[in-house]
Amino acid sequence: MKRGLILLILLLAGMLNVNAYELIIPTDKKVATTSDYALFVGRSKGYETITINKEGVFRASNGAFAHSVKLHDGENRIIIRSTYGSIQVFKFFKTPLKNIEIPVENFEPQLAFVVCDNAPLRSTPVDAGLNRMSHLFQGTRLIINGSKGDFYRVILSKDKVGWIEKKQVRIEESSCSEVPQFLSMESKRFKNAMTQSISFTDKLPYTIEDCDKEIIFRVYNPEYSEESVYNLNIPKPEKYVHIVTLNDGTYNFKVKKVTENIKDVVVAVDAGHGGSEKGAIGCLGDEEKDINLSIAAELGKILESKGIKVVQTREYDANLSLDDRVRIARENGADIFVSIHLNSIGNAPFDLHKTRGTSVYYYNNNSEKLAQSVLKHVTRSANTHDDGVKTASFAVIRPADYVGILVETAYMINPLDSVLYRDNKFPHKAAKGIADGIIEFLKK
Ligand SMILES: [Zn+2]
Repeated sequence: MKRGLILLILLLAGMLNVNAYELIIPTDKKVATTSDYALFVGRSKGYETITINKEGVFRASNGAFAHSVKLHDGENRIIIRSTYGSIQVFKFFKTPLKNIEIPVENFEPQLAFVVCDNAPLRSTPVDAGLNRMSHLFQGTRLIINGSKGDFYRVILSKDKVGWIEKKQVRIEESSCSEVPQFLSMESKRFKNAMTQSISFTDKLPYTIEDCDKEIIFRVYNPEYSEESVYNLNIPKPEKYVHIVTLNDGTYNFKVKKVTENIKDVVVAVDAGHGGSEKGAIGCLGDEEKDINLSIAAELGKILESKGIKVVQTREYDANLSLDDRVRIARENGADIFVSIHLNSIGNAPFDLHKTRGTSVYYYNNNSEKLAQSVLKHVTRSANTHDDGVKTASFAVIRPADYVGILVETAYMINPLDSVLYRDNKFPHKAAKGIADGIIEFLKK
């Protein structure tokens, strides 16, 4: 009888052995990567403990675990062991990213035209980060005098240059072209806005600087004179947006106050990802897009109950481009844009207590205060760790014609966060925090 029981226990243990833990990441035993870390994320089903390269791995109450291993160049063997002796071997092959410094090529000044709308003029020749000086309109007349990699150098004035991607301009071969002329300038004051208009015979490059007390729009005419810069300063109110339009050669720069009357405010609520774009995957296999959508739905309900007009960019599980998200917000006259996400890790080591919690991103200065107040309220309401207010160049929060933030409510792969976001009250708690943050921002 005793023997039978022991046999049964051994048999059960053996069964547990087969699939005692489940890995969500990685999905392959052999991985080629340029990343500095190998990430292991999954769920342990029993009471067993797991070690990765002999290091013990923390397991949350729901079995979720995450662990990263620093990789060296070449082949890395990583061994996962569980208490019952189940062993898996992974091979990560890391190739280092090559950093080849490309020299700047200088050439005689040449005339060029922007071939598409919304072409970023950058302060450095890289497509990354917060280096955008403005977004140029199709047909903008440029003088270029150098190149680096995929970029041309644009002369703005005697001591100022910008960079634009080569594919966004067409070089004008003929050199006989008339120098652009200034035509007129006008400023107007409205109840909730101020505008400055300026006209030239051609479309010229411009930049925007959001300073302490004012927004400075500058238009550059380097062919007329190296010092030919037209500065249009507009004082900014406490809560503001700014808009640039170009019609028949006339720039219209506008700084508008965000309405203080809550009933007049339109909030665009954007559930991140959707359809085949699942977003980040959690330790237990949850998909970010689904949680984003439930938070967005809750947020919509709460804001509407306060009398705020809400427009959802997606209300069901479907693919939606970043441009469409921005377009929907603009078409509905959004004053505020809130994109809802859960975080992923990127090329960084995983730390149970640091890679954790809520962070709120903004791009334009006009959105920093909203980011701060949303972060404060979400961490309180959803009981998440404070991962800070950060800046990033995400397409949906780049437009300055609304106040835009992107909320990473928690980390999909953090085991402690997975306990929070798997609670069915989480969408409401996170949404309540975002709504409270928005209302505090509007009332201040
Ligand atoms: Zn996301």
